[in-house]
Amino acid sequence: MNVLVSSQEIIDLKSKLAGKPLALVPTMGALHNGHLKLAEEAKQQGCYVLVSIFVNPRQFNNAVDLDKYPRTEDADRIKLEATGVDAVFIPNIAEVYTDDLSDINLDLGELGNVFEGHFRPGHFDGVVQVLYRFFMKACPDCVFFGEKDLQQCMVVKKLIQAYFPNISFFQIPTVRDVSGLAMSSRNQRLSKQGLDFASAIYRNLVELKKQCLLGDFDSVEAIENLRKLNIETEYLEWVSLPNLSIIRPENFRNFHEQALVFAGYLEGVRLIDNLVFTLQTE
Ligand code: AMP
Repeated sequence: MNVLVSSQEIIDLKSKLAGKPLALVPTMGALHNGHLKLAEEAKQQGCYVLVSIFVNPRQFNNAVDLDKYPRTEDADRIKLEATGVDAVFIPNIAEVYTDDLSDINLDLGELGNVFEGHFRPGHFDGVVQVLYRFFMKACPDCVFFGEKDLQQCMVVKKLIQAYFPNISFFQIPTVRDVSGLAMSSRNQRLSKQGLDFASAIYRNLVELKKQCLLGDFDSVEAIENLRKLNIETEYLEWVSLPNLSIIRPENFRNFHEQALVFAGYLEGVRLIDNLVFTLQTE
């Protein structure tokens, strides 16, 4: 596996690919099977797979969260190598935020103001600026993102639409532990009991989805179930895609693609999850 630290190395590498498409899988490291699934999918598409590991300070609205973000570079490299990843890009901050590119002003509309946009001010701007730089520097043919970060997927699609129409976007379903808990680097900060409690998030989403399919949504019981397990819900809503607009039961049939979105805190760790589903229309 090639280890690259500069954008110039990516450009040099691209020139040797002889037409094989370059897939970029951006991550912040502390890799788990969710991340590796993205790389496997990219491999299956016949791409040369480049995984980036960069903990982007600009997308953290909370200094403690940034400070506590797990960093496990040696273990990450071993996992990537074992997955058959072709190259890993591990730039430092100066390499990413070079003066030759300035910030872009991407209009996210309401998508930028709701849920993660609301509770993590500046987060999506940080995501957009770093991905803009990565996409400009690496010129990937395709990029792979996890549905686990559903709103981020919608934001990336907007970025691609506006600036990189030639990049193909792949959205990969959430990889879960056997308990149902969505895999996340932040899970490492949970106690054994916390991991057990956190699995209730998915179970409650599955129950709520059954209601939604019948045109009914009441999150009070689910929020209470989670509260009893020390999980404090930040939001739990029924939304339509791609804009994450809240669905009202009276017109739920108007939306084909729907989702339940959740964020909450357990043991001081912020957890997000979602369930995407489609409404079958006759
Ligand atoms: P992160 O390192 O958290 O920035 O995540 C890097 C990429 O991995 C993002 O596209 C995430 O959506 C994706 N990802 C994280 N967790 C999972 C998961 N459990 N299943 C699938 N993709 C994931």
